[in-house]
Amino acid sequence: MKYNESPSQATDYLRQAIPLMVRNNVPPNPLNYALWYTYVSNKLPALNEALDSTVRTYGTCPTLLSEQLFRSHLLEGEGGATDEVQAGLLNLVSSLQDQAAEAAQHTDNYSEVLKESLDALNEVSDSDVDPLPLESIVRTLTLNTQAINETTRKFQQQIDAAQSEIESLKQELQKTRQDASLDVLTGLYNRRVFDGELEQLIEAGAPGGLFMILIDVDHFKRFNDTYGHLMGDKVLQYVGKLLKEECLEPLIPVRYGGEEFAVLVPGGNLDEAVELADRLRHKVESIRIRQRSSGSVISSISASFGVTRFRSGDSVSTLIERADQALYRAKDGGRNQVCADD
Ligand code: GH3
Ligand code: MG
Ligand code: MG
Repeated sequence: MKYNESPSQATDYLRQAIPLMVRNNVPPNPLNYALWYTYVSNKLPALNEALDSTVRTYGTCPTLLSEQLFRSHLLEGEGGATDEVQAGLLNLVSSLQDQAAEAAQHTDNYSEVLKESLDALNEVSDSDVDPLPLESIVRTLTLNTQAINETTRKFQQQIDAAQSEIESLKQELQKTRQDASLDVLTGLYNRRVFDGELEQLIEAGAPGGLFMILIDVDHFKRFNDTYGHLMGDKVLQYVGKLLKEECLEPLIPVRYGGEEFAVLVPGGNLDEAVELADRLRHKVESIRIRQRSSGSVISSISASFGVTRFRSGDSVSTLIERADQALYRAKDGGRNQVCADD
């Protein structure tokens, strides 16, 4: 990703990006700043399409998806960001922000000077006297033009520096696959991310509808007791892989904790969310656990599912509570089944 636009173009992009972020309820963090700067520059049509469709679906761009879009479109690499790398990005883009603010300030001063000069010129032509004020007006204008040129030149240097910094951050990101927001065992996002994401979506009012599927592996304690904790871990890894494959963007699958998983489903209706849950239930049910040495099937597993719909007035906790109640009914009804809340 190259940022080699002219100083005035860069400043212009920066000015367009901020109101767009505000309008789309996007938190003004540096990562979003870089995303929306690129959006207004129209350099990556695929990114624009993805952002447009995300905003259409969610009424905002959830932080988690912003991160994904940033990784896939701007960094073109994989892997998670460590806190250190994220702090680097933070510094990088906030210094861009400062520069943009300074450039804007200079432009404001400049237009003020222009206006004053114009007023003064009018006075001069009205009174038609001493030519001296005209000279001093021209001098003031020249000085201010030099000042604004200097500001935009500095801004361009800053952008150049940012570009090489992004390059080194990119390499670091690729090296570092560990991410505080990822669950180590399954590679899915963890509950911390899930709660944050849900909160943002609820704040945005989930205009296109929002559903939550809570998943709990059945009798998993018994499974561990019978086949060992390591085998249990393998099963959880497999369920995680399955969720990753089946729940593509804009669905958000996470490991909720222990042997529990969750999927956030934006858009659609309750029947569709229940259908998805049932499809996942079938997939889990068809997992066969084989003995490594003989290859013979020793066990199968199942999971229970609770599905709930976001209702206006819901908070993160009321939504999760209803999903939990639906899940409880699925357990109570004999497990390996899907229950929905209405
Ligand atoms: P239910 O059908 O009612 O959900 O029964 P359950 O046995 O699955 O539920 P319970 O809450 O009694 O036990 C959950 C088990 O999941 C106990 C715990 O050891 C196991 N578990 C939680 N996290 C992990 C993990 O990371 N690896 C393994 N192997 N087991 C885990
Ligand atoms: Mg459980
Ligand atoms: Mg369980």
